[in-house]
Amino acid sequence: MKTIVLKFGGTSVGTINKIKTVAKIIADYKKKKFRVIVVSSAMSGVTNELVKKSKAISKNFSNAEYDVLVSSGEQVACSLIAGRLIHLGYKARSWLAWQIPILTHGEHKNSRIYDVNKKKIFSYLKNGGVPIVTGFQGINEYERVSTIGRGGSDASAILLAKFFKAQRCIIYTDVEGVYTTDPNKLSKAKKIKEISYEEMLEMASLGAKVMQPASIQDARLNRINIEVKSSYVKKSGTLITKRKNIINNRIITGISSTHNDAKVSLIGVKDKPGVAASIFKPLSKNSINVDMVVQNISANGRETDLTFTIKAEDLKKTQKIIKTNKNIKFRKLLLKKDVSKISIIGVGMVTTPGVTFRMFQTLAKKKINIQVISTSEIKISVLIDKKNIKKALIALHKEFKLDN
Ligand code: ASP
Ligand code: MG
Repeated sequence: MKTIVLKFGGTSVGTINKIKTVAKIIADYKKKKFRVIVVSSAMSGVTNELVKKSKAISKNFSNAEYDVLVSSGEQVACSLIAGRLIHLGYKARSWLAWQIPILTHGEHKNSRIYDVNKKKIFSYLKNGGVPIVTGFQGINEYERVSTIGRGGSDASAILLAKFFKAQRCIIYTDVEGVYTTDPNKLSKAKKIKEISYEEMLEMASLGAKVMQPASIQDARLNRINIEVKSSYVKKSGTLITKRKNIINNRIITGISSTHNDAKVSLIGVKDKPGVAASIFKPLSKNSINVDMVVQNISANGRETDLTFTIKAEDLKKTQKIIKTNKNIKFRKLLLKKDVSKISIIGVGMVTTPGVTFRMFQTLAKKKINIQVISTSEIKISVLIDKKNIKKALIALHKEFKLDN
């Protein structure tokens, strides 16, 4: 008998009616003779409400209590799903993470699952039961409830798939799958049939909200096939799998763009060891996420210019940190808001020459100036003026044949 993990996101269990639909989806897999393990997130909005409550109680709400509090949303959703399945005549029950147990280590709010005890769930499955497991939570070495980071029920599902050797993990959500680019930004965006872990990781890190980036890494390491699909419509979704399984002749799989970035340039910094570290150390201490970084070759061997990007909301703080940093000297500080990063992603670029050129030429034809460039093995990102982002998106989506 094949085992399958079905994970339902907050929107999929957001109302009583949706939970009834979810129970039907689960029942369908039971009818097809699968061994089904269900993982659910909290009903949409619930976790946020709980976080708000903790803040209202105290600015320094205990992290251990935070985990007990915010993990409670999953308990509600799971018991409702189980209750509905029982109503339909199935053998089902909720399993809180500590009852299994799902073991985690690390800090509260941000623990990691390292083991899942299989015994009880296994015998429950063998007896025909459908376990409805709370995502997002675990139990640590002190027998305290832990949570694994916001959006963490994706990772719970992936790891259950790993430990129970599931044939597939299906992530049910409110979109039909992963798209070539955000359909809200470009109506020509198309659903991607298959995408590699590496590409999906880049897309998720760049803001495709379909799945939590860390969970994709877990899936990649454990070779778990994931299907992302909608719980509202019966259509096939997107398969996330290893590169070898994908037969696709496209060079670029997806394009993503950011909208609220800012650019910081330090002109005339000393060109000597340790300077970049001195600039970035206080930024990282203040949890400012630095994205693209470029440093020019110094023309005279003494001075250089350094440019990096951050989220626009961090601009004021960054400015202050740099101006009060006594460990660095520079001639001028330039700040620019309203810039956006646009990235093309595809494993095809590894073997296809000229992709960079095609991207740059496409932007040049539209008279779009490139301010910063950064690349990885399967991604090229450029920073452009925010006002040009739509134009760039349309042009690149067409150039790399993603429109059809
Ligand atoms: N309910 C949790 C959250 O909102 C976990 C999840 O949705 O995956 O972050
Ligand atoms: Mg969620």
